[in-house]
Amino acid sequence: MPKIVFVCREGSDEPRVAASPESVKRLTGLGLSVVIESGAGLASGVPDADFEATGARIAGSGEVGSADIILRVNRPTATEMAAYRPGAVVFAVMDPYGNEAALADMAKAGLTTFAMELMPRITRAQSMDVLSSQANLAGYRAVIDASHEYGRAMPMMMTAAGTVPAAKVFVMGAGVAGLQAIATARRLGAVVSATDVRPAAKEQVASLGAKFIAVEDEEFKAAETAAGYAKPMSEAYQAKQAALVAEHIAKQDIVITTALIPGRPAPKLVSRAMLASMKPGSVAVDLAVERGGNIEGSEKGKVADVEGVAVIGYANVAGRIAASASALYARNLFAFIETMVDKGTKEFAVNPEDELVKATMLTHGGQVVHPNFAAAAAAFVVDAPVAAPTATVAPVAAEPARVRKKPAAVNAETGGDAAAEEKL
Ligand code: NAD
Repeated sequence: MPKIVFVCREGSDEPRVAASPESVKRLTGLGLSVVIESGAGLASGVPDADFEATGARIAGSGEVGSADIILRVNRPTATEMAAYRPGAVVFAVMDPYGNEAALADMAKAGLTTFAMELMPRITRAQSMDVLSSQANLAGYRAVIDASHEYGRAMPMMMTAAGTVPAAKVFVMGAGVAGLQAIATARRLGAVVSATDVRPAAKEQVASLGAKFIAVEDEEFKAAETAAGYAKPMSEAYQAKQAALVAEHIAKQDIVITTALIPGRPAPKLVSRAMLASMKPGSVAVDLAVERGGNIEGSEKGKVADVEGVAVIGYANVAGRIAASASALYARNLFAFIETMVDKGTKEFAVNPEDELVKATMLTHGGQVVHPNFAAAAAAFVVDAPVAAPTATVAPVAAEPARVRKKPAAVNAETGGDAAAEEKL
C-alpha cells in the first residue's frame, strides 16, 4: 500500500500551503499517494482542480486520520493533532523555541514531527532550507510594501516637468532577507546602503551595488560565529553603531530592518529619536517584529505612525507573497521527503542516524527527542504514555524525558544547532 501524504488547509491567518502542483507530481512520482484538504491552496492561488490535475485526490479534513505523512506550513494546534493517527509523521515550521508545552503535546499524540526551520545550513540541505526560501521572499516583499506606503517614486526620474530624486533606502541586517531587500530596492532604482555586524556582509552588500555602513573596529572583525550568524555585540559597540546609524538614518527615506540573532530577541536598532530625525513621509519596515522588533514603536500586524514615520510591522511577510512562498516551501519539503524514500523499493522510512533527521526531528515514540527541547519539554510529558514506534521509523536512542533534570547546554549564538556550527 502506498503511504498516504495529507496536505492540510492552514488556519485563516496563514495563506500559504505545504504543496504545489509540481510537488504533488513529484511526491506521486516517489510512489506516495497525495491527498489535499479541499481548499488548501486557494489563498496561494492554487484551486483544488490544479492539484487534482497533477495526481492528488481532494478530500475533507476528516481524512487526515488515515494519513501516514502530514504536510503543513505551521505547527498543528491541539485540536488539529487530535485527529491525527498516532505514528503519523508531520512536517511543518514548528516554531519550537519557547513552545515546549506544544512540543510535548505532539509527543503525547504519538507523532513523529520535523521542524523544517532547524534544517542545517549545509550544502546537502540547501534545497530544504525554508528559512532562506521564505526570508528571501520576505526581503523582496518588504521593499514592495515600503514603496506602497512611500508617497514618492523609488527611481530618479528626469522629466520635462522636473526631476524626481531617487529614494534613499537603508537596510539593517544583510542576511538572506536583507540582501534580497537590497537587490530589490536597487532594481527599483533606489540609492541603497546597508549595515550588518558580520564582517562577511560587507563584501556581499558591495557586490549588490549598495554602500556598507558600519563601525569596523576589532570587535566587528570578530563578530561572526562559525555557523555564519551574528554574535551579540558589546554595549560599547552598540553605542558606537547607534551613533553612526543615527546620523545616517536622518538622511534616509526608507529604512528596512531584518536583524536577528538566533535564539534571542531581535536587537533594538532604531529608536524613536532616530525616526523623529527622518523627513516627513518616510517609511520603515520592521521584518523582525515577530521576534520583538528592531524598531521602537513597531506593532505586529500594523502600519504604525511613529514620530511621523509609517512603521510597517506586518507579520508573516512571506505569506504576503503566498503563491511564490508556497511553491518554494513545497519544494523544500519535497527535497527533504525525497531523502527518506528508497529509490528502488519506493519505501518511505525515516533514518534516525541521518544528520538532517537528527537536526530536525522534535518528537518521536511519545517523547520530545530533540536535544535542544527535551529537557524543557520533560515537565509536560512526564505522565505521557509512550506510543509505539511507527513502522516507518527505526527506534531512536533517546534518553527518556522524565529522567532529564538539567536543561541541555545550548549555544547562545547558534541556538544549539550543533550541525550548523560544525558545517558552516
Ligand atoms: P538572521 O535571519 O539570523 O539575521 C539577519 C541578519 O541580521 C544577519 O545577517 C545578522 O548578521 C544581522 N544582524 C544581527 N544583529 C545585528 C545588528 N545588531 N546590527 C546589524 N545587523 C545585525 O540571518 P540569516 O539571514 O538567516 O543568515 C545568516 C547567515 O547565514 C548569512 O551569512 C547567510 O548568508 C548565511 N546563510 C548560509 C546558508 C548556507 O547554506 N550556507 C544559507 C542561508 C544563510
